[in-house]
Amino acid sequence: MISPITIVGGGIAGLTTALALTQKEKPVVVLEARPLNQYHIGAALAMAPNAMWVFRQLGIAERITQSGSRIDRYQFVTPQGRVLKSINLDQVGKGWGESAWAVPRTHILRSLLEALPPGVLVTDSPVTAIYPGQEIGLDLANNESHKTLMLIGADGAHSIVRDTVWPKLPEAQFQNFVAMRGVIEYPLPPAWSHSTLQVWGGRGEFGFSPMGESQVYWFATLPWTDAQNLPTRDHFLRHFRQWFAPVNDLLRLTADDDLLIHPIFDQLRPFTEVPWPMTLIGDAAHLMTPNTGQGACQGIMDAWVLAQEVANTTEPLQAIERYRNLRLNSALFVARQSHRMGKIIHQRMPLAVKTGMLRITPEALIGYSMRRVVGNVRSVQPQIAVR
Ligand SMILES: Cc1cc2nc3c(=O)[nH]c(=O)nc-3n(C[C@H](O)[C@H](O)[C@H](O)COP(=O)(O)OP(=O)(O)OC[C@H]3O[C@@H](n4cnc5c(N)ncnc54)[C@H](O)[C@@H]3O)c2cc1C
Repeated sequence: MISPITIVGGGIAGLTTALALTQKEKPVVVLEARPLNQYHIGAALAMAPNAMWVFRQLGIAERITQSGSRIDRYQFVTPQGRVLKSINLDQVGKGWGESAWAVPRTHILRSLLEALPPGVLVTDSPVTAIYPGQEIGLDLANNESHKTLMLIGADGAHSIVRDTVWPKLPEAQFQNFVAMRGVIEYPLPPAWSHSTLQVWGGRGEFGFSPMGESQVYWFATLPWTDAQNLPTRDHFLRHFRQWFAPVNDLLRLTADDDLLIHPIFDQLRPFTEVPWPMTLIGDAAHLMTPNTGQGACQGIMDAWVLAQEVANTTEPLQAIERYRNLRLNSALFVARQSHRMGKIIHQRMPLAVKTGMLRITPEALIGYSMRRVVGNVRSVQPQIAVR
């Protein structure tokens, strides 16, 4: 049997695309490498207004926010906790009519899975080979094979779809820093109950947000040169030892099982058009560093636009081309902003110079840069943009 549309990878981008397509009555199957019992991992994610807008269109925004916290302010603070800048996120999300939220990643995945019709997601099915053509062939690890008329690569940072169909694209590049993330029950002062704090220090950063009733989601990055041998919690503790109390507490007290550590990669070159009905979305298309907090959000926007384009035409190549034209440059703009921020944050530079730079940057300018990254609703509603 030939599936009309197959998505490789059931992460946030793949599942959001599947949901948007099924709501347009487009039959779709998602082949996911992981078994279901390893599905619900991951700390938390900032869901910016662009992603929340898509979830609202898909009817799952209320569900998504049930376990999250609304974030109204982004505060940059010194390692001693002194506020350097406080950005009101109302203005940033205004174009979307949505707020930003901090949400457990598992809750986002679960919300998407619950909204999908049964049978769409096929877990425990790693794709091992892809044969491009008008009818695309796929081999799976269990010796089964699969045929499809449209293939969407949503298989993340080290995508087999990207490597097979676009072999000339450079490999994802290690960015010489690592990130640690955690979730913990921790009492934050009420003044921070709707803020993300980003501690702006020497080399590296530490950020945290309240999440749900009483949890805190935190992330930390530090410079590191070896993507194979990753640092431990102790390295992070030593690096941030002189930073103010919540930083140390969060790093020290988070249970081992609630910690994640990642080497950070990005890939900033655009994939080209191909003569077959195949495309990429999410990290597979534009892997970015976490510095703008937009990787998943951009994948969610890809999902929405691609599904609308597929639903609007019977010609898959046309839908794919329109999706690529609408999304790829915008997402790569965000990826390049993330890349630049990652470089500044991890550059060797005296703390006074770094905080001085931030101090003299007007809040309006920081808000403007954030608005450019989050984009505007017109960018995902092509019919409005064109008229
Ligand atoms: C430290 C850190 C913090 C971040 N913080 C944020 C944030 O606050 N906000 C935000 O928006 N983004 C954030 N991101 C980015 C975000 O995590 C990613 O952009 C997002 O998860 C990518 O989703 P995806 O669906 O494209 O890819 P993935 O989540 O990687 O999903 C890909 C899926 O494909 C499957 N797969 C892979 N290969 C195969 C195969 N051969 N066959 C079948 N299946 C396969 C995988 O098992 C996986 O389930 C952060 C990233 C990091 C590292």
